[in-house]
Amino acid sequence: MTFPYKGYAGEYLDIDLEKGKIHKKEMKKEWARLYLGGTGVAAKILWDRTGPSTDPLSPDNLLVVGTGPLTGSMFSPSGRFMFASKGPLTGVWAESHSGGFFGPELKYAGFDFVIFNGRSEKPVYLFIQDGKAELLDASDLWGRETNVTTDMIREKHKDPSIETAVIGPAAENGVLYGAIIVDYYRAAGRAGLGTVLGSKNVKGIAVSGSMGIDAHDMDAYLKANEEEMARVRDPLWASSLESLRKYGTTDLVSIINEIGRLPTKNHWTGYFEDADKIGPEIIANEYRIAQEACHGCVVGCKYIIRVNEGEFKTTPVGGPEYETIMAFGSNCLNDDIESVFHLGKRCDLLGMDTISCGKTIGFAMELYEKGIIDKEDTNGLDLSWGNIDSMVELVEMIAKKEGFGEILAKGTRQAAEIIGGDAWKYAVHSKGLEASGQDPRAHQSVGLTYATNVRGADHLRSLSSLEELGYPEIAIHRFGEEKADDILKIMSPKYKGELIKDMEDLYAITDSAVICKYGVMWPPVYYYETFANIIPPLTGMDDWADLAFVKSSGARISHLRRAYNHRLGITRQQETLPRRLLKEPMPTGPAKGGLPDLDEMLDEYYKYRGCDRETGFPLESKLDKLQLDYVAQDLKKRKMLAGQQ
Ligand code: SF4
Repeated sequence: MTFPYKGYAGEYLDIDLEKGKIHKKEMKKEWARLYLGGTGVAAKILWDRTGPSTDPLSPDNLLVVGTGPLTGSMFSPSGRFMFASKGPLTGVWAESHSGGFFGPELKYAGFDFVIFNGRSEKPVYLFIQDGKAELLDASDLWGRETNVTTDMIREKHKDPSIETAVIGPAAENGVLYGAIIVDYYRAAGRAGLGTVLGSKNVKGIAVSGSMGIDAHDMDAYLKANEEEMARVRDPLWASSLESLRKYGTTDLVSIINEIGRLPTKNHWTGYFEDADKIGPEIIANEYRIAQEACHGCVVGCKYIIRVNEGEFKTTPVGGPEYETIMAFGSNCLNDDIESVFHLGKRCDLLGMDTISCGKTIGFAMELYEKGIIDKEDTNGLDLSWGNIDSMVELVEMIAKKEGFGEILAKGTRQAAEIIGGDAWKYAVHSKGLEASGQDPRAHQSVGLTYATNVRGADHLRSLSSLEELGYPEIAIHRFGEEKADDILKIMSPKYKGELIKDMEDLYAITDSAVICKYGVMWPPVYYYETFANIIPPLTGMDDWADLAFVKSSGARISHLRRAYNHRLGITRQQETLPRRLLKEPMPTGPAKGGLPDLDEMLDEYYKYRGCDRETGFPLESKLDKLQLDYVAQDLKKRKMLAGQQ
């Protein structure tokens, strides 16, 4: 093998499902040096091989499964991996990450990436074991829920330690927000990537690996790891990390409600009176029975719950994250936490994104309240706020695309178009992706994050926690004394363009490395210096020791993903927020009266990003500096064609 860099498995699989052929290929040196791994490499692959004419659910689309150099390393937290594609829900760039042990296992089995292309004639699953891969018949798995699928795969191979990433009936049926479920209850949930896998007749991937990953300079790598762990142990973060360990992300229900940012009643407001009924204390005290960590993580935020009696009685199962509690709880005015557990679990078993599913149901409840739809439209379901029986039934109907469920299976944007009238006013999405659990009327930079995020209204590409957690020393270190004060003001739009540009680039490196956001986002322990410290001794890529190179690599990956969307027609006009979040001042709660100053923040963002203010397109001079000359040429060609029309 001639691939020169360590920390990588060094090979990837390029799978032609049409022909049933698996091509084993050597990783490209340029991919590692310029795009690192994960989202960066996936962006390059998708830029090269898909485009405006690619129908997301056609055989022409690709599904990329990716790890990064830090996946499966000793670095904490390094259990992550990711999927990317042109998204069926949004029609633009789509990626989704998951934790657990699958990513490390894939690398230990000898591969950094898997690319699925085409469509298999019959249902298959991919089995990878120590350098070998084969497509196996999945006819008996098709139609099965995700837990049964995982059990059956493990039984077939007589190996209970096989790691799996599988889809459920929802993705097979074409629900546009089908998820990929990893090891029973972790999910690459957002943007419908499970549906892409389903459209290719692929039920999932099973991996088993026992090969190791080398470091370029093991002593130096261990030393760098120890230095980064010393940063994690800094008392500055102690309370945030302690809370994550104790409550997982459920802690955010209280923290975010106190700011007035907890989506409630389909984002009508950001404050839920009954938040304590679905909050961290009740979950920890009455239902949590165990705590878990992903590969190599010192935090361990994942928790297991059990409900001992009643309608929603369950054996031990992964507890819902903050986002699921928000989507099926406050968002639907539902204060019954046991029903939230149940709805989250059904989404995992059926293979659906809990955020898009809960948000779409909340949207339907508001239409019902407003009289835009009635029982004739809903197959007789009473969609009054908080009606648990109807929610339970609707989740099953959506997964089967049955009756009214077929409309909701398309997500809020398309459902609003089908329903017509004023329905669009209550569809809370950006670029077609249902908003995650943050209300930008209570936090200015969230508005900019939602508007500029390449996959839509979601916090995971650039959310800043500096303002709400208030770390002045960090703000000064990153942005200088003059700007730090404004950066830390949660309701000031000033310098938020610079802040979000910086976070996007930092997250682009994080998602290419690939590691968990805890440690980067909440609390903000790791910064560019971390990657400059850790990547060179692991990989041998000396460029990455230069902080300027690390930062410009973040910008390169951000620009490439943005350019992917520009090529599909995304301009400043689409980098916006839904009407509710942009025009309706927050009606109640601590953020009462709040609205995001999106135009001001966008102007500043484009300035720092190096984009044209009118269109949001990148400036050619910027692209050349970032070694994205092929993007600059494409842009020039498109401008020329536009001029000729
Ligand atoms: S912080 Fe939580 S989600 Fe992230 S790697 Fe650790 S256990 Fe997994």
